[in-house]
Amino acid sequence: MEDCIFCKIIKGQIPSTIVYEDSDIIAFRDVDPQAPVHILVIPKKHISSLIDLKEEDELLIGKIYTVINKIAKKEEINEDGFRVIVNCGENGGQEVKHLHFHILGGKKLGLKICE
Ligand code: 5GP
Ligand code: ZN
Repeated sequence: MEDCIFCKIIKGQIPSTIVYEDSDIIAFRDVDPQAPVHILVIPKKHISSLIDLKEEDELLIGKIYTVINKIAKKEEINEDGFRVIVNCGENGGQEVKHLHFHILGGKKLGLKICE
């Protein structure tokens, strides 16, 4: 997608701090971190949001969770715990229209996730 900032990050047209990459998935640090560890995990395939997922994407989404597991261990937030968030659409607070999974950790997160 031409105007998608995350597609530009995938192509290296926008700089980012990449923490993981394979043929299907890339993960990089959020530019405006909300926790000591704040990483975005995204499919390289442009999928606009969770609601646009197709059955053919099931394996890819499963793989994303395995990557999240690996990143959590590498970032050493696996023992203390962390949170994974997917914002979807206007009411969900999704700003970037390329499916992404937030990994948040490194501190005790508040329980109020709905404000
Ligand atoms: P959303 O609100 O769509 O779920 O989250 C989008 C996230 O992308 C935000 O946390 C925001 O800080 C992050 N973000 C937006 N633009 C960039 C960018 O150019 N680089 C990086 N690394 N993160 C970005
Ligand atoms: Zn995109």
